[in-house]
Amino acid sequence: MVDDITLGESLRRAGVSRRGFLKFCAATASLMALPPSMVPAIAAALERARRPSVIWLSFQECTGCTESLTRSHSPSVEGLIFDHISLDYHHTLQAAAGAGAEAAREAAMHENAGRYLLVVDGSIPLGNPGFSTIAGISNLDMLEESAKGAAAIIAVGSCAAFGGLPQAAPNPTGAVSVGEIIKDKPIINVPGCPPIPVVITGVLAHYLTFGAIPELDHLGRPKSFYGQSIHDRCYRRPFYERGQFAESFDDEGAKAGWCLFKLGCKGPTTYNACATVKWNQGTSFPIESGHGCLGCSEPDFWDAGSFYAALSQPIDRAGGTLLAAAAAGVAAGAAVGLDNRRRKAEHQAAHEPMAVADLAQESKS
Ligand code: SF4
Ligand code: SF4
Repeated sequence: MVDDITLGESLRRAGVSRRGFLKFCAATASLMALPPSMVPAIAAALERARRPSVIWLSFQECTGCTESLTRSHSPSVEGLIFDHISLDYHHTLQAAAGAGAEAAREAAMHENAGRYLLVVDGSIPLGNPGFSTIAGISNLDMLEESAKGAAAIIAVGSCAAFGGLPQAAPNPTGAVSVGEIIKDKPIINVPGCPPIPVVITGVLAHYLTFGAIPELDHLGRPKSFYGQSIHDRCYRRPFYERGQFAESFDDEGAKAGWCLFKLGCKGPTTYNACATVKWNQGTSFPIESGHGCLGCSEPDFWDAGSFYAALSQPIDRAGGTLLAAAAAGVAAGAAVGLDNRRRKAEHQAAHEPMAVADLAQESKS
């Protein structure tokens, strides 16, 4: 449970240097699009912050979100921030099992009512509550019970934020996102398959610093991390502007690092921080490794057509035409997404005549 030391004290006990801590604060300020003058205020607030209780629930997921966190950043300061929140319940990481684990969740909910953060990865099946249970409790019931006393909910990964892979057509389990069930709590969506670890720690740092959730976009994502498209910040953009496109993964253009638009890159319609924050402690990101963006931080990305189909017709000319073509690409991508959502709805209507609300009601009765 939560002990009464501050985060600053907790980090000092763990041997984190003042310099390392300030470096993290500066990086956090930069990620949150705050001016450098805010660094001392962030450092002071983080040092004073009490360790929040965090309950982490994993539903229909692949554990990739937890893997992303645990493997990519240890033993950095970001990792230590994670270590020094009071992670009172996490299916994968906790030592307790069975009745002891459930007792920890109930105690954390009781002792920190109204103050704990609820983190969820994975989607929630409505089609049959028995598809996914923990300790004999359906995912739906556990989410609703745990959400009641939460100060805020962080939906980590595209499955929790948007339904993700489990919701892909034909959505056999009736999977839905956290936001489709919980309507009376602040929800921060941190999509990605998996999400970038620094983005998760950045959201936590924002909450610790300001005691509030960050500014969100129309899909509930923090604007500071999801405010620009991959394409906006891609280092291959100059090739796109010049109309220089790789035609296959092993042609001369690919070897020269040209734009991957024609090979299906979804960067123009995908909003995430990969091109700036990167992965593996800032080492690289998929486009830097020679593969187009799959669009994993957008809703319905599994159903939005082939990963290897270009968003629009090939673009070979330079200048204004490129911008028009890019806009057409965005529109085409949106149209593909809309068309797939329509197809999915039609499929579900044909195979699952009950509405989601009816299924939710049925699952409770
Ligand atoms: S289309 Fe993809 S590879 Fe090309 S500039 Fe945009 S994000 Fe980068
Ligand atoms: S580059 Fe695109 S597909 Fe790859 S992790 Fe980032 S948002 Fe997801």
